[in-house]
Amino acid sequence: MNKNIPFIDLQAQQKRIRKDIEKRIMTVLDHGKYIMGPEVHELEEKLAEYCGVKHAISCASGTDALLIPLMAYDIGPGDAVITTPFTFISTAEVVALLGATPVFVDIDPRTYNIDPAAVAAVLKSGELEKQGLKARGIIPVDLFGQLANYPELENIARAHDLFVLEDAAQAFGAEYAGKKAGCFGDVASTSFFPAKPLGAYGDGGAIFTDNDELAEKMRSVRIHGKGSDKYNNIRLGINGRCDSLQAAVVLAKLTIFDEEVGLRNQVAEYYTRNMPESILAPHVADGHTSSWAQYTLQVDNRAARQAVLKEKQVPTAIYYPKPLHLQDAFKRYGGHEGQFPVTEAISHRVFSIPMHPYLQREDQDYILEALNS
Ligand SMILES: *Cc1c(COP(=O)(O)O)cnc(C)c1O
Repeated sequence: MNKNIPFIDLQAQQKRIRKDIEKRIMTVLDHGKYIMGPEVHELEEKLAEYCGVKHAISCASGTDALLIPLMAYDIGPGDAVITTPFTFISTAEVVALLGATPVFVDIDPRTYNIDPAAVAAVLKSGELEKQGLKARGIIPVDLFGQLANYPELENIARAHDLFVLEDAAQAFGAEYAGKKAGCFGDVASTSFFPAKPLGAYGDGGAIFTDNDELAEKMRSVRIHGKGSDKYNNIRLGINGRCDSLQAAVVLAKLTIFDEEVGLRNQVAEYYTRNMPESILAPHVADGHTSSWAQYTLQVDNRAARQAVLKEKQVPTAIYYPKPLHLQDAFKRYGGHEGQFPVTEAISHRVFSIPMHPYLQREDQDYILEALNS
């Protein structure tokens, strides 16, 4: 039997909005303003309105959306930025690229997000000072679509004079206490990589903040540290712009985004309601909604489970098989096995199953049956 269930179905989405996407792309081809064209400005206005923040700044990727704020904060050698080891490489890579030190702390076992108590503990321990480091900020990640614990993280940040940079690459569309991802912390980043909840047809990203001064600096960093014009450079920056064609695609997708988040939630609820007892379904904390970038399960015997699903042609993926503190790229920071027991245990137990707004009941039943066997 060939079920052919995709892990993420971008085709079904495209079918719905193909005409609108084509029209918007044609408009770009007609006006020819490929860089910083009207679509870029329209997207920034719509994103700011969507999130309820003052400034939305589009950029070239979710990675640049992390790098640009750190550059605007002048992060560099001697600075420590605290983050989670259970995330995509970008979150800590940008810190290391600037010569600063990513300091990892363990995660909450149920939400998989950074554990505020662990953040407080490392700040209190005196460890950073011993290494000659100054704590500057925290980068919480809204993993798999659920916001991190911002009330506690923001309290800790205030007490230690740190910034909070929300990595919302997986959580665009999620909420906590009626506030949308993108408006937590001092500044937030998201990604429009095609597989994210809100994706382009290429790379793209955006940064959000209510801080006017920071916004101005970030707009400058995004375009080679420009001052009053682009041939007057007042700081070092990057080529971090979002191009008009990608902005056009995201604008089309934004028109159906809320509906899609609703559909993702229906899919997630059905999975959770029917999940066999031997499998730990995702936990959505009180007051939270998720945008379900991934629907991630925890099991005792992952390899065997995945093998059964593979045989039944149900695609699965592991986010993330190797925590960041154990990656060769970060060897110089001295991470070792046993350092973060929760993260390490979970990295051996989790896997994700198909999740997208257009997943049919019948296919979900098939996947659940495969999980039951
Ligand atoms: C995808 C992702 C990024 C990076 O986004 P790109 O657009 O691929 O650069 C950063 N952080 C997290 C948590 C992500 O999932």
